[in-house]
Amino acid sequence: MTETKLIRGRLLSFKRAPLSLADSDSYTYEHDGALLVSDGRIAAAGDYAAVRQVAPEGTPEIDHRPHLILPGFIDCHMHFPQMQVIASYAADLLEWLNTYTFPEECRFVESDHAARIATHFYDELLRHGTTTAVAYCSVHKTSADAFFAEALKRGMCMVGGKVMMDRNAPQGLLDTPQMGYDETRAVIKEWHGKGRNHVAITPRFAITSTPEQMSAAQALAREFPDLFIQTHLSENQEEIRYTCELYPEATDYTDIYARYGLLGQKTLLGHAIHLSEREADALSEAGAVAVHCPTSNLFLGSGLFPLKALMRREKPVRVAVATDIGGGSSYSMLRTLDEAYKIQQLLGERLNPLESFYLMTRGNAEALGMQADIGTLEVGSTADVVVLDAAPTPAMKLRMETIRTLPEELFLLQTMGDDRAIIETYVAGAAMKPK
Ligand SMILES: [Zn+2]
Repeated sequence: MTETKLIRGRLLSFKRAPLSLADSDSYTYEHDGALLVSDGRIAAAGDYAAVRQVAPEGTPEIDHRPHLILPGFIDCHMHFPQMQVIASYAADLLEWLNTYTFPEECRFVESDHAARIATHFYDELLRHGTTTAVAYCSVHKTSADAFFAEALKRGMCMVGGKVMMDRNAPQGLLDTPQMGYDETRAVIKEWHGKGRNHVAITPRFAITSTPEQMSAAQALAREFPDLFIQTHLSENQEEIRYTCELYPEATDYTDIYARYGLLGQKTLLGHAIHLSEREADALSEAGAVAVHCPTSNLFLGSGLFPLKALMRREKPVRVAVATDIGGGSSYSMLRTLDEAYKIQQLLGERLNPLESFYLMTRGNAEALGMQADIGTLEVGSTADVVVLDAAPTPAMKLRMETIRTLPEELFLLQTMGDDRAIIETYVAGAAMKPK
């Protein structure tokens, strides 16, 4: 028998990017709404009374009123092997990588360690209302195996890749161009399309890949054109300088990836903070996505990402938002968008709360081309859903007393909220938030 249930509460789902705070056509909001979930998918959505009418007799009901029900959050860039790297004290990116991150990632050659961290990884995602994430594993195939096995067990839609890196890191973290190619192929064969798993071709960044390995990544991209490609771009000035020194024939950092055929609509570029106009044009023309990781950018002092400026260019750059665990300092997409807001403030820009909630749901789904399945509460989508309480703490409860509008409530959630604001996280209709 297929499991059917009604999830009742205040529904919010975006139809497109909001143009302003007053743009109420960009979303649907039902004050007393319900989702009818059948076989893991949303079978009906809208006004409670109407949805109740089409629900089969005896359908059980979970009443989340007065809480908000949104599509589960999506995190477009993070590192599965860095859970024990978060909060490491370093001057900048390269010191942070060499001192803490690379030694920690070496441990993922052990499948027991990888499996243990995978359990914690998915627990934290679900605790924070995140139902889909795009992650880097370590260089070891064992880490990708653990990552995908746990995603499959929980029925989550996940994107991940075995990192390819063959220089400028400790011996225990290096593959070779051939090994990187072969093992990525093996991961694709074993895991891509199994459950809701998606494999990404994952050269870590140009500093840790030789030209030969970049060619191997290019060969994979040609062989598997439907796969995501993820890497890092223009995070900090010292990194940019060193990268360009390693690839003197390239016009700039972006051009390195372009030369190896790695810039396309399925390419996710972490950070992309310090782009020239030429590079932003190149991203725009390729349809590649710049993934903004605000807590990481502030934590490592990398720079201020011009989110709004890139979005409103004549040739706009596609953008997504992400935590970048463990350079990032929180698993929460609420905390992440709070920091994104502050970065735009420092740049003299406004990021309104409707835009923020659009970005962490439908916006990120569109960046992945997955909006037909995740990121909205539309009929036919998988029922990946988060339930939010804007008054989980005494301070938020007090502030809620004076809040009158939905955007105000969203802004409070974004500014003061964290995992305490997550009442429940549903994956394909099943309640999954760890107790
Ligand atoms: Zn990263």
